[in-house]
Amino acid sequence: MFKALVVEKDEEGKTSAAVQELSLDQLPDGDVTVAVEYSTVNYKDGLCIGPGGGLVRNYPHVPGIDMAGTVEASDDPRYKAGDKVVLTGWRVGEAYWGGYTQKARVKADWLVPLPASLDTRQAMAVGTAGFTAMLAVMALEDHGIKDAPVLVTGAAGGVGSVATAILANLGHQVAAVTGRPETADYLRSLGATQIVPREEINAITRRPLEAEAWGGCVDAVGGEMLARVLGQMKYGASVSAVGLAGGAGMPASVIPFLLRGVNLLGIDSVMQPYDNRVRAWDRIAKDLPMDKLEAMIQPATLSDLPELGSGILQGQVKGRVVVDVNA
Ligand code: NDP
Repeated sequence: MFKALVVEKDEEGKTSAAVQELSLDQLPDGDVTVAVEYSTVNYKDGLCIGPGGGLVRNYPHVPGIDMAGTVEASDDPRYKAGDKVVLTGWRVGEAYWGGYTQKARVKADWLVPLPASLDTRQAMAVGTAGFTAMLAVMALEDHGIKDAPVLVTGAAGGVGSVATAILANLGHQVAAVTGRPETADYLRSLGATQIVPREEINAITRRPLEAEAWGGCVDAVGGEMLARVLGQMKYGASVSAVGLAGGAGMPASVIPFLLRGVNLLGIDSVMQPYDNRVRAWDRIAKDLPMDKLEAMIQPATLSDLPELGSGILQGQVKGRVVVDVNA
C-alpha cells in the first residue's frame, strides 16, 4: 500500500481532495513504475485540487503536474530499476494521474533522466515552473537579448523566481516586477538588480509605445501587464509569454510589433519534445545556482496540499513549494 492525494467527485458534481491509501494494482497502465520522492505545487495544481476540479479530465484523480523519483520497475529498455527520473508535462496531473503519490505508473516517453548533478529534491524545487522559466530564457536567447535590463513579471512566484535567478546568473541586469513589496529582499537575494512595483507597469499611460526600457521579458502574468510591457520593450526585443496569473485577456495594440519589431514568444512546457527537455534540464543544472534554488524552497507534505492549492491561486505562494510525498 502507498499514500496519494486523491480528488473525487460526488453525484452532485462536488469535488473533494484527501490523502488515501492505494494499492499498486490501482495504478493506471504504463511502462515505468516510479517510487516518487518529490512533487511541487504549480498554478495548474491549484486549479485541479480546488473546487470544481479545474483541468481534471476523469475521476478519481491523483493531481500533481510534475514528479521526481527512482524507477522501481520498467518494461522500457531506456530505464532500469534505480534510475533517477523527472517528469513534467504531457498533461500528467490533469488527464493522467500525477505526482501527489508515493508510487506512479507512467509512459517511458514522458520521463527524462535526471542530470547527474541534481538530486530529486532539487529537480522538484525547479519543477514545472522552473523548467518553463528555463525554456523562456532559452527562447529569449534564441531571439537575442538586447542591451538593457531584462524584465521578469510575477517575479516572486515560481516561474518568476527561477527566471530571475537564471538570468542574473547569466550576467543580465534583472528588473523584477512584484505586487508584494515585502518580497524585495528575497528577489534581490536571487539576483534582481531592480524591483519594479506591479502598479508602476500597469499605471504607465495607455499609449501603445512608451520609452524603450527592457532588453527582454519573461512574463508569468499575462493580461494587462503583458499588454503594457509590449510597449516598453527595446527595438527588436522579445517577450516570452509564459502564464496568465493576471488574466487571459490581453488588451494590447499591434503598434509595438509594427514600429518596434517586438517578438512575442509563446512558451509551452507541456508538449516539449524529448531532446528539448533534456537540453533544458542540462541548462538548469549548469545555469541555476543551487544556493539560490535553496532560498526559493517552501517544504510541504501531501496533507498540506489542499490549503497550498488555494494559496497559489490567490498569488500568495513565494518561490517553489516542494512536496516530500514520503514525509
Ligand atoms: P505563482 O502563483 O507561483 O506565481 C504567479 C505570480 O504572478 C504571483 O506570485 C504574483 O507575483 C503574480 N500575480 C498573481 N496574480 C496576479 C495578478 N492578478 N496581477 C499581476 N500579477 C499577479 O505561479 P507560477 O509561477 O507557477 O505560474 C505562473 C503562470 O505561469 C501561471 O499562469 C501558470 O499557469 C503559468 N505556467 C505556464 C507554463 C507553460 O508551459 N506555459 C508552465 C508553468 C506555469 P508577485 O506577487 O511577485 O507580483
